[in-house]
Amino acid sequence: MQERFGSATALTAPSIPSFQGISAPVQEVLERALEGREISQQDGLVLFGTEGADLDALVATADFIRHRLCGSNVSFVVTRNINFTNICYMGCRFCGFARKTDDEDAELLTPEEVARRAVEAVSRGATEVCIQGGIHPNIPGEYYRDIVSAIKAAAPNVHIHAFSPFEIKYGHRKRHMSVEDYLGELKASGLGTIPGTAAEILDTEVRKRLTRNKLTAAEWVTIVKAAHKVGLRSSSTIMYGHVDSPRHWVAHIALLRDIQKETGGFTEFVPLPYVHYDNPLFRESPDVRPGPSEGETLRLYAVSRLMLAGWINNIQVSWPKLGPEGAQHLLRAGANDMGGTLMNEKITTASGGHFGQEVTPLEMVKIIRNAGRIPVERNTVYDALNVYDNHNPIDVGPLVPRNVSESPIRFIGEIQKSVGNA
Ligand code: SF4
Repeated sequence: MQERFGSATALTAPSIPSFQGISAPVQEVLERALEGREISQQDGLVLFGTEGADLDALVATADFIRHRLCGSNVSFVVTRNINFTNICYMGCRFCGFARKTDDEDAELLTPEEVARRAVEAVSRGATEVCIQGGIHPNIPGEYYRDIVSAIKAAAPNVHIHAFSPFEIKYGHRKRHMSVEDYLGELKASGLGTIPGTAAEILDTEVRKRLTRNKLTAAEWVTIVKAAHKVGLRSSSTIMYGHVDSPRHWVAHIALLRDIQKETGGFTEFVPLPYVHYDNPLFRESPDVRPGPSEGETLRLYAVSRLMLAGWINNIQVSWPKLGPEGAQHLLRAGANDMGGTLMNEKITTASGGHFGQEVTPLEMVKIIRNAGRIPVERNTVYDALNVYDNHNPIDVGPLVPRNVSESPIRFIGEIQKSVGNA
């Protein structure tokens, strides 16, 4: 991975990028970005075409602007993923997670069991639970609300980050309520924020191939804006590297920027590379790519940092999809956040992801320090909770025991220290 994204750097501010030897059109766009001016979709396309010295300059400019906006801190949140059901008949073709009711490993948790898992997460230091599931055909209309209420009763202080726009669409129809009223009911029950997942690529033609357009791009935008309007902030995402291309990426990023200008409700942007191993999209369609190339990922992080600067300043890297080492190196291409410790990651794992289900807080701190940055534990809305500049978090160990050879920080030579040592 070292050679893929370059080497980790020491804790120094990046210097002003050198534009020596780069092409005039790229230099013109990068200079505009450094001046704090808006990067258009057309500019973004110029940047997605960079190679060699032009690409180096793009990455250096993204790193410089990241430091200007976020300093040397790299944040993470102590959270637990709780997937309350994997039963789903929506048939999204990129999904390896969904099961049918009579599958051996199909499950549907009661609200009480979700709450029990939330309490367990809090006992391990979690400030957040992230709750998403399949679109189960037979859950009662009140099910999502009951999950939130059960968690609030059992763990009143934990932040509940739950229900994608697709789940919100399903829930409000089941409840026969307007989107706004339904979101208001969930908020009154204790919902804190919603994940901006199910965005995939906000383009009708691409969505038709990925999801049969069960949640349209327009519906995603409407639900997210409604959430922001009732005071529920959200993350924003893109899933890229399948049947899409740079023109879809720049349009998607520009659309998120427009929403943010209107509502200010996004907390972060999370690029999610498509994981192809165990899902029908790749298996059944010869023209589908096996995820993005390394260069595409590098450019996506750098271009999104430039296009979103001043509007969405937190760019999160997904360690379940890229691995902790790949994630570490993308901190040099514009990213400033490592996402969550997760404890029970299942969705990427189900599609063949092989980077494990959890990075503990201590491991997260070691990964960030090894990248030459200052680890900061944050809450869901990016308030700093603990700055680990000269001390370590308590080592809680992984929730699901694992061998030391499965340590997510073995690449920095911490195999023996990864379990049990602070
Ligand atoms: S992505 Fe979600 S909605 Fe689509 S099939 Fe998988 S579980 Fe169901």
